[in-house]
Amino acid sequence: MRLLLLGGSTEANRLARRLSGHARIRATLSLAGRTTNPAIAMLPTRIGGFGGSEGLSRYLREERIDAVVNATHPFAAQMSENAMAACASARVPLALFTRPPWRTQPGDVWIEVSDAAGAAAALGPPPKRVFLTVGRLQLAAFRGLPHHFLVRTIDSPAPEILPKFAEILLAKGPFTVAEEIDLMRRHAVEILVSKNSGGGATEAKLEAARSLRLPVVMIQPPPVRGRTIFYNVEQALAWIESHLASP
Ligand code: NAP
Repeated sequence: MRLLLLGGSTEANRLARRLSGHARIRATLSLAGRTTNPAIAMLPTRIGGFGGSEGLSRYLREERIDAVVNATHPFAAQMSENAMAACASARVPLALFTRPPWRTQPGDVWIEVSDAAGAAAALGPPPKRVFLTVGRLQLAAFRGLPHHFLVRTIDSPAPEILPKFAEILLAKGPFTVAEEIDLMRRHAVEILVSKNSGGGATEAKLEAARSLRLPVVMIQPPPVRGRTIFYNVEQALAWIESHLASP
């Protein structure tokens, strides 16, 4: 069986580990190629876009793919749309393997917004010390604001899209709550801006904000779409194996 695993997330890496060396599944991991040092892949990997849903549809036919698992990041809305359209047109079964978003807990003060522009507006005019953790591709929305930003990204952001007052911190999770509290204290952070990505790797910043009583501007994820959705690796694996032809 030939499987295409759309990756770029912890979930994809987890599933790749389980599929590596599988006797009856030949899986290929697909990455967009955004990160300069992606986690070491456990599967044969192709890198780069397919060329929209038509390109993906062509790829599915040419590579005779039997099933697709979309395990892209919850904010990768375009790839998820393309996967749905391409799998429908190539008549290939598709499942989404993702993680639930974070939910507020007692003590949290969240200002919920739907995109980066909304987050920028939610900061208001008076200058503040902001901990900005939305990824390097979303930074342009904050350019031109008067705040002092501590910008944490995995790879270096392009200098031309940075806000005027920005301090860059290159780091990749997971982070501990103690580390996050220490960081926020040292930088006298007054407000956190985050995408609601769910998952454990970067959740500690929310607990830190809660314990320091800091508000959080939370960019909510696009709605989850698709008919077959899994939140754990065993279910995703069972779905894949259910598409194996009988020996
Ligand atoms: P996106 O907006 O949904 O996708 C933009 C384009 O990138 C797609 O149309 C596709 O190009 C290409 N692409 C995306 N994921 C791909 C994959 N797994 N394999 C091959 N091509 C892919 O995605 P994004 O938000 O830019 O995210 C890019 C990658 O980073 C994804 O793999 C995602 O899982 C990962 N990631 C995203 C975030 C985030 O916050 N958005 C965070 C962490 C990791 P074509 O149309 O040419 O096929």
